[in-house]
Amino acid sequence: MTDPNSDGQAVAAGGAGDRASGRRGRKVLVVEDEPAIAGAIVRGLKAAGYAVELACDGTAGLKLAERTRPDLVVLDLNLPELDGFDVLARLKPTAATPVLVVTARTGLKDRLRCFDLGAVDYLPKPFWMEELLARVKARLDPLAESAPRVVEWDDVRVDLDALEVTVGGHPAGLTRQEFAILAHLVERPGQAVPRHQMAAMSDLAGEERHDRTIDSHVVRIRKKLGHAAWRIATVWGIGYRFERREREREEAGSP
Ligand code: CA
Repeated sequence: MTDPNSDGQAVAAGGAGDRASGRRGRKVLVVEDEPAIAGAIVRGLKAAGYAVELACDGTAGLKLAERTRPDLVVLDLNLPELDGFDVLARLKPTAATPVLVVTARTGLKDRLRCFDLGAVDYLPKPFWMEELLARVKARLDPLAESAPRVVEWDDVRVDLDALEVTVGGHPAGLTRQEFAILAHLVERPGQAVPRHQMAAMSDLAGEERHDRTIDSHVVRIRKKLGHAAWRIATVWGIGYRFERREREREEAGSP
């Protein structure tokens, strides 16, 4: 991992780069002892605009849950101190504090036991960050789910719900990761998005990530968008930015 923030230490406060309405202030507690996975989950949630706290063992998780009253808990099962089942049993999840279990223990017995103990959702490892975020969002932003989210410019149409990009009415043929990167940018017009944030949004959690991988994805995205790629701007030393529409007008008016 190239990201210096990936060491899994406790992280508080909402994602700096996100101003998605209704999400700021929604608190998610992550209880995960694997630093690489914890770091990826924390970054992904912060990038999506949630306030995130991290506990690296079951006892710390329980204490934080009692102290911070999170809106949702993302819980691993194999944990030091108390394991995830013990945390579930003591936490007694409620509708106000639902628990999403994310674990490598994928046997039916373990799954059923999670639900018996009150978990509302279950995601087996390895998982896609997009899917984890979609599940968190489905719990915390039910209204946002129903609003159609389409971004259009020039002859490009990005449907954020159908996960579809068309150019001139034809499918642009973006891969899953390319779509994740493009979607992350178009949801934040005018904001410089760091490469590590884009990687957290697009990669399988816990995998090695490199800035150059993001760069080559962006090269391919630009190629597929053709002349409409002008809105994907490079921010030197940081990452990329989805340009605001105003620039279109400025450029049209410039010599
Ligand atoms: Ca674990």
